[in-house]
Amino acid sequence: MEYRRLGNSGIKTSALSIGSWVTYGNQVDIDAAAASLKTAYDAGVNFFDNAEVYAGGKAEEIMGAALKRLGLRRGSYLVSTKLFWGLHDGPNEKNTLNRKRLLEGIDGSLRRLDMDYVDLLFCHRPDPDTPIEETVWAMSDIVASGRAMYWGTSEWSAEEYRQAWEIADRRNLRKPVMEQPQYNLFVRDRVERQFARLYDTTGLGLTTWSPLASGVLSGKYAGGIPAGSRLSLEQYGWLKDGSMTPAKLEAAARLAPIAKELGATSAQLAIAWCARNPRVSTVMTGASRPEQVAENMKAMDLVAKLDDSVMAAIDAATIGSSDLPR
Ligand code: NDP
Repeated sequence: MEYRRLGNSGIKTSALSIGSWVTYGNQVDIDAAAASLKTAYDAGVNFFDNAEVYAGGKAEEIMGAALKRLGLRRGSYLVSTKLFWGLHDGPNEKNTLNRKRLLEGIDGSLRRLDMDYVDLLFCHRPDPDTPIEETVWAMSDIVASGRAMYWGTSEWSAEEYRQAWEIADRRNLRKPVMEQPQYNLFVRDRVERQFARLYDTTGLGLTTWSPLASGVLSGKYAGGIPAGSRLSLEQYGWLKDGSMTPAKLEAAARLAPIAKELGATSAQLAIAWCARNPRVSTVMTGASRPEQVAENMKAMDLVAKLDDSVMAAIDAATIGSSDLPR
């Protein structure tokens, strides 16, 4: 495994990591989570991603219990969580980054994880109703209190991120160090173009999500929807509708021969393509089974094989279905 600095910070993340969205609490219990986490840890993964809202808090409970069961040394891994959507419907408790919610939210997450601190804490989405200064101040206070080591944002625009960073810089508060954007062969614009000026000026690091576009880039949906797969889950119909478009399925099919030529699977190729971008500190993968983790972790062996001609072939196969302007 390769370890990369999280932007300009002193902390290093494994180039591949693993998260709990959809799976933990919906498809996977503590035993199954522990099996996947162990496979990842044994392959060198040192970062496990979570969020308060995943499975209504259950994903944090499952991950915390699974890590405890594995008996891993706390100093040897990083855990994250994210706050924004909340777990209750009150006007100050959902879709917000107000100070009260953030300070109460981190305590709830730590209780469910059964941990004293998280390593990375994210504002899960921007909140147009709370001044960015209030949010920056609260996140800075949480870091100063030791309940999180570093803070960052997820799916914030370049402008919002820069504002947060500049407020912290001006006021001598703890600065954000990372963003968590979607990044895969279909969603490239933010990481490759919109954030371009932030990397060197603010030291931004990236923990990117959905390298397989929820599994579509593995090619598994070419012949329909496999039983038990993510896009078969009834409550995720909205995800299926956005993921299984003809353009995406056709692009995924065009990737298969490129992967085969390299002696790899389509999933490994899609993950390696993300990891090849040096701006990406860690590619956060997802898995419902340890076998998927084992397959996906081998993607690191492929990165060096993605030379200019392979990259051009990947672009040709997918560019029409990505969000990059043509
Ligand atoms: P992917 O796009 O890689 O999708 C992972 C899913 O694809 C797995 O759960 C599994 O689903 C399937 N899969 C994985 N490996 C293989 C394989 N080798 N062959 C076939 N199918 C495979 O990542 P996620 O969407 O899960 O995102 C990764 C992490 O990023 C999340 O867990 C979460 O921590 C984070 N995230 C953050 C978000 C944010 O807003 N900040 C949003 C979304 C995710 P199955 O077996 O069920 O089909």
